[in-house]
Amino acid sequence: MENTDTLVIGAGPAGSVCAYLLKKAGVDCALVDCASFPRDKICGGGLTPKAYSLLAELMPDLQYEYRAIKKVKMGLDHKQISEIELPQEIRIVSRKDFDNALLQQYLNEGGTFIQDAFEKFELLDDGNIVVRLRSGREFQCKHLVGADGANSHVRRQLIGKYDGNVLILEQYIDSTNDAIEGVVSRKYDRGYYYLFPSVHCDIVGLGYKGITLQEFRNVLTTLGIKETHIKGANISVEETDSSLDNVILIGDAGGFPNKLSYEGLYYAIATGRNASNAISNGKTFRETNRDIFNRKRKERFLSNLFYGRIGMFLVRHFSSNTYLVRKIFVAGLSH
Ligand SMILES: Cc1cc2nc3c(=O)[nH]c(=O)nc-3n(C[C@H](O)[C@H](O)[C@H](O)COP(=O)(O)OP(=O)(O)OC[C@H]3O[C@@H](n4cnc5c(N)ncnc54)[C@H](O)[C@@H]3O)c2cc1C
Repeated sequence: MENTDTLVIGAGPAGSVCAYLLKKAGVDCALVDCASFPRDKICGGGLTPKAYSLLAELMPDLQYEYRAIKKVKMGLDHKQISEIELPQEIRIVSRKDFDNALLQQYLNEGGTFIQDAFEKFELLDDGNIVVRLRSGREFQCKHLVGADGANSHVRRQLIGKYDGNVLILEQYIDSTNDAIEGVVSRKYDRGYYYLFPSVHCDIVGLGYKGITLQEFRNVLTTLGIKETHIKGANISVEETDSSLDNVILIGDAGGFPNKLSYEGLYYAIATGRNASNAISNGKTFRETNRDIFNRKRKERFLSNLFYGRIGMFLVRHFSSNTYLVRKIFVAGLSH
């Protein structure tokens, strides 16, 4: 049995940021991921101003490659209705390189990385936790952080079946665009089509509850995009408040991505920071993450409004008003 104060499962943005900050605060921790890094992650890779400014605050030495995009085109039923210029860029990153750069920050602090998979945890009578990894290695720790993404095994052991995942399908295309595109439609139930001009290629994607491969193929055909290699991944949009103070779920494992835009990177970074603050300051995650839990309640209301009849009516009638659209969009990109 090995001992550590905190075991973090998952070295995506949530886990790496959390483990890095714990290390900085002098907390003994280890970071576990089943993948060998650099590893890819199916994602648009869009970092909003609130995400990259928070990251710059938390990891001042972090360097990463990105494509800066300031133009956004929006459409309804694949007809363009407005085009806006943003005051601050959106940075599009390659997740393979970006996530590896975050992990390197933790390693540079002297952090321990273990390539292994989480299997199960057990609570001891004295409040400690025993975590068993797939290799058979066992750790005794005071805190367990589940940062193992949308299909989290830590969450599964805590709450059982989870119903908050939305499937997103994506395909890489040649790099020919200079604007982000977003398209909503009554046909896409609480979701949207997007195009992101990324670092090495462009990415098109479509995500909503109940999406099928055939529907994504139909959209590609309508847009004249040749199908090459479609990939899919879940994103979790229903937050999960752990019933245990020493088992904390962050990032996608905690269901924190935005319910309306599906932005997840900001929430992964912010909840990673909040989990680290809870552990290093002896507080509960419920306290340190209060702002995000409150924000989720507002998002639920806004998402129901936006993707409902009223929202679509407003989009149809007011989205050509670029002043208004820009104001709403910019508010969503910042804090
Ligand atoms: C198609 C798609 C497009 C997206 N586009 C955007 C976007 O443009 N902008 C944005 O902000 N967000 C976007 N998101 C959301 C974003 O990708 C996630 O919110 C973000 O990756 C969450 O980070 P995380 O660290 O919580 O989890 P992840 O990045 O998923 O990392 C989880 C880590 O846990 C590891 N792991 C999993 N299971 C285990 C296990 N049992 N044991 C050990 N390790 C394990 C995995 O290997 C992985 O490294 C998108 C999501 C999808 C699916």
